[in-house]
Amino acid sequence: SIVLAGHGLIKKYGSTMALSGVDVEVRERDSLAIMGPSGSGKSTLLHVLAGIIRPDGGQVLVRDERIDNLGENRLSALRRKRFGFVFQFGQLLPELPAEENVALPLMLEGVPRKAAVERARRWFAPLGLEGLEGRRPGQLSGGQAQRVAIARALVVEPDVVFADEPTGALDQNTSTEVVQLLTSVTRSQGAALVMVTHDADVAAHCHRILQVRDGRISGHSQYTVA
Ligand code: ADP
Ligand code: ADP
Repeated sequence: SIVLAGHGLIKKYGSTMALSGVDVEVRERDSLAIMGPSGSGKSTLLHVLAGIIRPDGGQVLVRDERIDNLGENRLSALRRKRFGFVFQFGQLLPELPAEENVALPLMLEGVPRKAAVERARRWFAPLGLEGLEGRRPGQLSGGQAQRVAIARALVVEPDVVFADEPTGALDQNTSTEVVQLLTSVTRSQGAALVMVTHDADVAAHCHRILQVRDGRISGHSQYTVA
């Protein structure tokens, strides 16, 4: 079934058409990579689908519920509950140990600290992070920090994980390792993945690749992930 859809999405910045009528559908456990040249509208599309930016036209639906017209409070509540986010870097709080960084989205939902940390710890083994629960972000490698960020995105058991250049700050080998974990752990949790990347090798780990050009979909490919 379709978890996330964008229909006829339009976004303007002054006279710049960042999106001029984009249609996207994402199914359960689907992974979608958004690629395209710089300035083509990739980030705008990700942020519109994630309810961070409102479109000027079209609709965004999460499991058939329109979200583009929700009030700010309901929209941010929905983002916290149903979506997880992974960014390029700098998303972990430096003064908190890894396990508390992962527990944070649960605590924001009102889960008591102890229970939240307990649930957070369960994500360390699947992401190859055992033993690093107490480390602060400054004591982690770039790849480890991104895996902690993935754990934090998944801890609320979201419907969709949005990743904006999740491997942008990593070397080739670490990128491969991180994207493999991102796609496999997201899928086994039952969530869909929507990712913006410049890296074709990273995109190839997704089921589908959407090519964006000048605010439109210029190509669409189906991949069979090994
Ligand atoms: P990409 O992620 O593919 O690099 P973006 O979605 O960031 O592309 O940008 C698409 C277009 O919208 C570009 O022309 C960009 O300059 C413009 N744009 C993006 N964000 C803003 C903004 N906040 N204000 C004005 N123009 C913007
Ligand atoms: P860029 O794509 O230009 O590198 P970022 O990915 O860092 O920028 O952030 C893009 C936007 O997403 C910003 O406006 C930021 O406030 C917002 N944002 C970042 N993290 C979250 C989050 N967890 N939930 C909702 N919005 C977020």
